[in-house]
Amino acid sequence: MVKAVVGANWGDEGKGKITDMLAQEADIIVRFQGGANAGHTIVNDYGKFALHTLPSGCFYNHTTSIIGNGVALNIPILFQEIKDIVDCGVPMPKILVSDRAQMVMPYHVLFDRYEEERLGGKSFGSTKSGIAPFYSDKYAKIGFQVSELFDEELLREKVVRICETKNVLLEHLYHKPLLDPQKLLETLHQYREMVEPYVCDVFSYLWNAIRDGKNILLEGQLGTLKDPDHGIYPMVTSSSTLAAYGAIGAGIPPYEIQKVITVCKAYSSAVGAGAFVSEIFGGEADELRKRGGDGGEYGATTGRPRRMGWFDCVASRYGCRLQGATDVAFTVLDVLGYLDEIPVCVGYEIDGEVTAEFPVTSKLEKAKPVYEVLPGWKEDIRGIRNYKDLPENCRKYVEFVESQIGFPITMVSNGPGRKDIIYR
Ligand code: GDP
Repeated sequence: MVKAVVGANWGDEGKGKITDMLAQEADIIVRFQGGANAGHTIVNDYGKFALHTLPSGCFYNHTTSIIGNGVALNIPILFQEIKDIVDCGVPMPKILVSDRAQMVMPYHVLFDRYEEERLGGKSFGSTKSGIAPFYSDKYAKIGFQVSELFDEELLREKVVRICETKNVLLEHLYHKPLLDPQKLLETLHQYREMVEPYVCDVFSYLWNAIRDGKNILLEGQLGTLKDPDHGIYPMVTSSSTLAAYGAIGAGIPPYEIQKVITVCKAYSSAVGAGAFVSEIFGGEADELRKRGGDGGEYGATTGRPRRMGWFDCVASRYGCRLQGATDVAFTVLDVLGYLDEIPVCVGYEIDGEVTAEFPVTSKLEKAKPVYEVLPGWKEDIRGIRNYKDLPENCRKYVEFVESQIGFPITMVSNGPGRKDIIYR
């Protein structure tokens, strides 16, 4: 059985926690897109971890963690991450890296930084991890596949060819130091040495695993609204954040994905630039940011404060529909326990008309939130394990959201730990 864990919103919904939890019953966990630009925060018996590249199931002895072909693989970051968890007492995870995964090169990180600098006030708010230059090169067919590390002749020729084109931009557009092909080749040799023991024909591995009835989890990064096609383009990420892409980024037939667990946070947060209709500001936002997540809503990769907002039914319904949610995991509900009243965005007013459908970006920029205000429950709900034990207003909040988004909320998360979950 293959399940995908994906985000309905702008990312940071708590996918890491849900994956870590579901991984107890999984054999294999696969990252299928994105890179070290976003992080998953996980709290378990070993401590608190921010993972960027490793799948969130890497804390168990019984699981195999796979870096799929769709990932932007930054080899030094992957190995630093493995070292960090092993240093904290986590057993060395069993890791496989797809021979078809492509690598984030040092110059991708530089180009990301230079371009953000060049754009100045008009920048995308990139995490400068090289992800956009990486995927641009992948689709321009000038990326480096892991498999190519093992073909020395190809590598030598390609390094020279790539440096030629990159250096034109470095010299004339960015006015920065040029790349040295020999140095780049040495870096790639180091990468080869590091990754060699883990390289695998992941497609065949997963094909056989599915045939053998293994439980496989596909772990998404970010959420629907950051999808390059269906999100708030151009303020999106560079690889698809949809469960459907799980089939491509892992290398499995699409019909094998039988469950799409779509993670939806009980309020909104976003990082980077772009329209955010239910955004709140000032003291109201500061309070929610401070109380949010586990220790505040600050980026797991960058540490920057996240933008905050009320739950957005329009965006989340759209988010769940595109994911093809079979189950919704509604997370971080415990954080809202301090509020007397909780506004929920139920529509967008655009040019005097109210809509419940998520619009294209040019219209989204003009949208004003239409709120319905629900009563708060003013209680700490952490530690509750049965849905019926939640305060009445809390259940009403869950059921209101469920009726608005139109997908079953089968899990309610009321704390960061593995056990903080209520099944419905
Ligand atoms: P991801 O990228 O979707 O995995 O999300 P993040 O890791 O950025 O954000 C989720 C944050 O919320 C992390 O700090 C988690 O430990 C925390 N978290 C997850 N679920 C819950 C929950 O139900 N309650 C609380 N209070 N924190 C949670």
